[in-house]
Amino acid sequence: KFQASGLETCFHDRHIEPQIYAGLDGSNWRLKDYEARGGYQALRKILAAEGGMTPDQVVAEVKASGLRGRGGAGFPTGLKWSFMPRALPVQKYLVCNSDEGEPGTCKDRDILRYNPHIVIEGMIIAAYAMGISVGYNYIHGEIFEVYERFEAALEEARAAGYLGDHILGSKHSFQLYAHHGFGAYICGEETALLESLEGKKGQPRFKPPFPASFGLYGKPTTINNTETFAAVPWIIRNGGQAYLECGKPNNGGTKIFSMVGDVQRPGNYEIPMGTSFAKLLELAGGVKGGRKLKAVIPGGSSAPVLPASVMMDCTMDYDSISKAGSMLGSGAVIVMDETRCMVKSLLRLSYFYSHESCGQCTPCREGTGWLWRLVNRIEHGEGRADDLALLDNVAENIMGRTICALGDAAAMPVRGMLKHFRDEFAYHVEHKTCMVPAYV
Ligand code: SF4
Repeated sequence: KFQASGLETCFHDRHIEPQIYAGLDGSNWRLKDYEARGGYQALRKILAAEGGMTPDQVVAEVKASGLRGRGGAGFPTGLKWSFMPRALPVQKYLVCNSDEGEPGTCKDRDILRYNPHIVIEGMIIAAYAMGISVGYNYIHGEIFEVYERFEAALEEARAAGYLGDHILGSKHSFQLYAHHGFGAYICGEETALLESLEGKKGQPRFKPPFPASFGLYGKPTTINNTETFAAVPWIIRNGGQAYLECGKPNNGGTKIFSMVGDVQRPGNYEIPMGTSFAKLLELAGGVKGGRKLKAVIPGGSSAPVLPASVMMDCTMDYDSISKAGSMLGSGAVIVMDETRCMVKSLLRLSYFYSHESCGQCTPCREGTGWLWRLVNRIEHGEGRADDLALLDNVAENIMGRTICALGDAAAMPVRGMLKHFRDEFAYHVEHKTCMVPAYV
């Protein structure tokens, strides 16, 4: 559920307003509405016959903004754009990763649902900056109405001359297409996405070579997340420095967080980077039913869990969350109250990763299933005395030994749970039941 109310007043003292979600209510996603909000002004600014911006200037502005990839890895966007061999006389591709499948994350689908043109404009600007003439938006397979809306927005943009040959009478031409995925979590991994886009089974590739040199159809390709592209028009309109100052050093701009789990008002919240977690929790109405906060997974299900005491001291930015021992990831904040059993929670996550492993490499294919079976028997009162050590061992032996990050993503929640809530797992093994009253 989309939540925008309150944001503008919440940050009024700092004169920061939402950049992607501003003024949206679900009915104003069309081109005319977007233009009325200042849409496509950034594109007009860079393509202006006089006083426009060169591709180098656009890349420099994005670098200055401190924008980091919003899909989870947090890689600096401007730097990624500078890897594209712009002058190479071969076909180059731009890809938007809208294959949002991380448990808890639901922001990209809302950007496409409420503000599709901001992504289109961001992609056209990115294509201009990197000398790219063809792009694709790979949209998660289970959100069909979002795909249809994006298609409708593309039609509007083409008809208005924002897409196609000689955009707004300039030399810049860019064709953009939507591609509907099939719902596999692994297709959110960039090289698996490229394989899927080529019509093959969505399995990650070995890296290197990286997509910047060998991407879609073996050609240089830049892939960014939906939210990353959505941030670009604001940066071009207002300047990289202004964007950086919305957040904090090394953590520029605003970020959308999906508040899910045991909160009063689950939804997506766009806030300045560096805002305290306590403030974000307050925006979401606090913990559901007035119960006590027990734990938080701050960056999508792959991020290690943090206990309430640690989380309440954090600010929502890459540096603070990583210093606390977790990751900001995709920005899904999974809130767990005092009634949650950590063994049961980990069981759900372990099943997910075991189910979604593409099966290509042994530590992930075998290890994720092994983790799930171990947690399953602990949860069901069949745990053995050495199971916690075995869980540690299996998780450790998956980490860093797989082709893609799914292996690590399966191992990290296990390590986080055992680090902070080991006593709950030990209690399950010893007493064959749960120590959390609601689950006894
Ligand atoms: Fe496939 Fe897992 Fe290996 Fe990734 S880590 S390539 S998902 S088997």
